[in-house]
Amino acid sequence: MQLYNTLSAKEREGLIEEAGKDRLTISFYKYAHIGNPQIFRNHIFLAWDALEVLGRIYVAHEGINAQLSVPAENFDALKAHLDSITFLENVRLNIAIEQDNKSFLKLKIKVRDKIVADGLNDATFDVTNKGIHVGAEQFNELIEDPNTLLVDMRNHYESEIGHFKNAITPDVDTFRDSLDIIEEQLSEFKEDKKLVMYCTGGIRCEKASAYYKHKGFKQVYQLEGGIIDYTRQVMAKGLENKFMGKNFVFDQRRSERISEDIISNCHQCGQPCDTHVNCANEACHLLFIQCESCAEKMDQCCSAECKEIHALPEEVQKELRKGKSKSNKIFKKGRSEALLYKKTPEESARTIFTSH
Ligand SMILES: [Zn+2]
Ligand SMILES: [Zn+2]
Repeated sequence: MQLYNTLSAKEREGLIEEAGKDRLTISFYKYAHIGNPQIFRNHIFLAWDALEVLGRIYVAHEGINAQLSVPAENFDALKAHLDSITFLENVRLNIAIEQDNKSFLKLKIKVRDKIVADGLNDATFDVTNKGIHVGAEQFNELIEDPNTLLVDMRNHYESEIGHFKNAITPDVDTFRDSLDIIEEQLSEFKEDKKLVMYCTGGIRCEKASAYYKHKGFKQVYQLEGGIIDYTRQVMAKGLENKFMGKNFVFDQRRSERISEDIISNCHQCGQPCDTHVNCANEACHLLFIQCESCAEKMDQCCSAECKEIHALPEEVQKELRKGKSKSNKIFKKGRSEALLYKKTPEESARTIFTSH
């Protein structure tokens, strides 16, 4: 029985091209009690590998969080398989707005302690006492209400390229940090304001909303299905789109354009730009925003130092990397002093909480 990937990303890329099949990028999550996550993990690996599913999936005692791509022709079979699992029957599938056949190149299903690294001690509050789920239409109404505080539950590099109008976007590196900052900054509004929150696909709000209710916020709402399903509903129902810019996603596509607004700047020259790249220096790999002209000038690197290393022969670079842990910063902090136009958390905190 083969329970793990045997192909490299490169080999997989070749196979996807050769097959020429259209693939769908999908995400879903479900909090549910899973008695033996390892057995469950092996079970879905076998079934999904047979359906040529690729993706990044986390399984824990508390549930499943999945981001994957599947050949369009196998979508129904995958759906049937999900429906055969009691707690995944009719689970909401978030389907990506912009498709890319190479959004994922491996099938990785990992058993973790939690399906979101939220840093919360679940035993201290009732995780089932969640906020009120709202769809796109009600969300649009709620966020126009002057009595509403709209909070983006994502990290700084996500909200930087796209967020809802008037949202508070905490400049944090982790979900845990944002929980504390928001509670501290908004504590005086616990009684009378509506706390409305959103994230990419809804999963982060599931616990955050329960956490804030536990902390004493009386009226807590969360956008069901997150930005991904909001966008789908807006298009399907012809609603007004109140999201500006791009939705950051955690696969090779990096983002989906939701509106034509470009709300961020190149971290090197400051001109309007919302294209995330990874520093071309293998030893750095910093995630940052870079415009085309800076990319050319800097050889797609984040700093002069990285550019220098990147220009060295591959063998010499390998030698330099030896013994050093690879600081793979993709989807991590994305901060560096070399980036002149990236705000520090302190600068952003000032602008965010004084503008409301
Ligand atoms: Zn630039
Ligand atoms: Zn770099």
